[in-house]
Amino acid sequence: MPNRAIFAQIIIPVPVPGTFTYEIPISMVERARVGQSVIVPFGEKKLYTGIIASLTETPPEGFKIKSILDIADDRPTITPKQLELWQWTAAYYMCPIGDVYKAAVPVGLRPDSQSKVLPVREKEPSADQLGSDESAVFAVLTRDEEATIEQLAKITKLKNIIAVVKRLVDKGFALITEEVRESAKPRRTKVVRLSDRLADADMLNRTIALLTVKQGQALRWIADFLGADAFRGKTVQMKIALEKVPTTPTVMKSLIDKGLIIEDTEDTLLPDTSCGIQGINELNQYQQQALDEIHKQFETLQTVLLHGITGSGKTEIYIHLIDETLRAGKRVLYLLPEIALTTQIVQRLKRNFGNKVGVYHSKYSSTERVALWRNQLYGEHPYPIVLGVRSSIFLPMDNLGLVIVDEEHENSYKQFDPAPRYNARDLAVVLAMQHKAKVLLGSATPSLESYFNAKQGRYGLVELTHRHGAAVLPEIEIVDTKLERRKKLMKQCFSQTLLSSIDNALSKDEQVILFQNRRGYSPFLECTECGYVPKCKHCDVSLTYHKGIERLVCHYCGYSVAAVTTCDHCHQSTMRLAGFGTERIEDELKQIFPQANIARLDTDTTRTKHGGENIIRDFQERRINILIGTQMVSKGLDFGHVSIVGILNADNMLSFPDFRAYERSFQLMAQVSGRAGRKDKTGKVIIQTSNPENSIIRQVVANDYQAMYDTQMAERTQFFYPPVCRFIYITLKHRDRQTVEDGARELFGLVSKVGGITPLGPTTPAINRIQNLYLMNITIKLSKADTMQSKLGLQQAIDFFLQLPKYKNVMIMANVDPM
Ligand code: ADP
Ligand code: ZN
Repeated sequence: MPNRAIFAQIIIPVPVPGTFTYEIPISMVERARVGQSVIVPFGEKKLYTGIIASLTETPPEGFKIKSILDIADDRPTITPKQLELWQWTAAYYMCPIGDVYKAAVPVGLRPDSQSKVLPVREKEPSADQLGSDESAVFAVLTRDEEATIEQLAKITKLKNIIAVVKRLVDKGFALITEEVRESAKPRRTKVVRLSDRLADADMLNRTIALLTVKQGQALRWIADFLGADAFRGKTVQMKIALEKVPTTPTVMKSLIDKGLIIEDTEDTLLPDTSCGIQGINELNQYQQQALDEIHKQFETLQTVLLHGITGSGKTEIYIHLIDETLRAGKRVLYLLPEIALTTQIVQRLKRNFGNKVGVYHSKYSSTERVALWRNQLYGEHPYPIVLGVRSSIFLPMDNLGLVIVDEEHENSYKQFDPAPRYNARDLAVVLAMQHKAKVLLGSATPSLESYFNAKQGRYGLVELTHRHGAAVLPEIEIVDTKLERRKKLMKQCFSQTLLSSIDNALSKDEQVILFQNRRGYSPFLECTECGYVPKCKHCDVSLTYHKGIERLVCHYCGYSVAAVTTCDHCHQSTMRLAGFGTERIEDELKQIFPQANIARLDTDTTRTKHGGENIIRDFQERRINILIGTQMVSKGLDFGHVSIVGILNADNMLSFPDFRAYERSFQLMAQVSGRAGRKDKTGKVIIQTSNPENSIIRQVVANDYQAMYDTQMAERTQFFYPPVCRFIYITLKHRDRQTVEDGARELFGLVSKVGGITPLGPTTPAINRIQNLYLMNITIKLSKADTMQSKLGLQQAIDFFLQLPKYKNVMIMANVDPM
């Protein structure tokens, strides 16, 4: 028994810089480890789950400190490498490590006073399953349906409430959630497969000989039913097994109890998961060359960029690399930019790797995310492949061999709000460095950042310029909307050319994708008499009309008002719709092509857990003829029957006020175009623009990434913009416009004195008020060398500024490497 307390630095999920010192009482000293979750009191009567970052025997001097209340779990929640990655992220992205913790760890693993607890209704605990504290909490939960931990503490008067709740959760009688909507029961189906012990037909026969006749028959039937892949992890739904196999639940259970049959759960909405493992496709000659080249470059470089045109089969190359990595006994992290994409990729991966694939993203319930986290950290069978979106970069990783970043140019790898404003693509390189693993970045339209890194020799570069098989790149036709409008050939926002192409495709039972970079019905309502446009009460933006709900909605803060026909200004009934969003295009198209099945893919139609997946599957299985969408339709989806892709308005992408507008327009248009014409069919892309001579439009038509790169890089170099340097956007926010403007000037003066940086501004952003706060920006240019040092200086300047009495209520956001 130790004879004195020790001290710990604890990471707490609050937006305050640094860690916090707590005492570890004598009774817990022997159990305490770095990485463990501990329950700590913080502020006024608040409880948090913190993480031990370090331990020391030296007591802090000069101030009284609190003790931790409990060690939540003897097994660490994070590994030393994760802790190191968090520290790196906090320093690089200039944010509190508490924010990194919050982004990294699912809420079920870090309950605090405000977390909601729900009872699991399907389970009724028997008297001996719960201790008296747990029973007391469970009783409150079943009575009140749900309660926050704070409420539970008040009612039960239990001091160690979080520990009690966690025990209830671990036993499966309660769950902790951020959102109340979350269903307590994950939508998963039971599946069964043969145990790994049954390695081949020989082993199966010998085992059957040792069983009862009924058990033996059942096992034989299941093996036969699974066919050739029975010994490679192929699964069948329990329900189907019981239907098709002449056996009873009792016999099945006895086989499960003997460990011959393994019970598992799989996502219900992935129909392919139970149809087994196929061999991996053989690569075509170009893919094989690319793979050989990747291997060669990996010998000397950690990161390789695979630049392969759409449909060239990058995914096939990933699959070969994954297979090799698994054979070498290492694990793979596969990053995707968008949740809606996961279904297609998961299907493809499961076909090749069966149940070796784990999926992790924010539309999975907290319970499911916690389960995967624990499984990867100390489960018996951690998934060798984890597929996930941005936040899966923070999963516990052991034995990592390869990180794949698919569609690496996508800006959804970057978290914009809240902090940490990290880019998972860039963290992938840091993560891989920790594990001595390799990184493969893949894209048909690489970010200038990655291509520049490759040209500088920091990354390898492999190019793939042939589409697979007979498929060729689509033909691109430009429609000059100015000209068509003059000739009265435009019908709303559709040119004659586009409409007749759609008509033609429909008549041949081919599919159509239409792209518009704006959701909602119509960008705004406008008064034809006085020109008045309704704006958000809290933000400096016009409201977007949403027809389905008959309301005007702010896309920045969600504020909405009922849509009215009378003008607030001149009080006449002269409000009319201006512009086109995806919802309006869908509406108008339904009138022009009443016989077609038309669907829409944007953030409004994909809010639910499986909304996006369902639409994509319906389109894939050709129950939908025309799919209208925002940039979601551009992202790496592979459809076989799309002959027409329409880009309705290239102009509003090109005129977006951002230095990356041209690069991004090229990426979007090239990616959307890439959805047309696969397999043996040639596709056609129609781009509507009033500016056909624009250099980007011409580069898209010529599919000339290199020309785009060269012209854009020339500008970036001339003006010293990323990727030649780094940017940090500093945003100041305050309720009072004068305070924020004065503050910006003051802060600008302070940061000007920091070495190694050049500040620009201060400027009033295009949208200068969001949620009632006025905004001012300062842009910091950092030369690439010595960034950590300059950031430290920058942080000191900001800290000094925030100490000034006049500005202590100003909020400051730093966005490092903004996109
Ligand atoms: P990318 O990701 O580069 O756009 P995909 O990997 O999605 O390309 O490949 C496009 C299509 O071609 C897919 O339907 C894929 O199954 C098929 N394909 C590509 N390479 C092969 C191959 N070597 N053997 C069989 N099919 C392939
Ligand atoms: Zn708003």
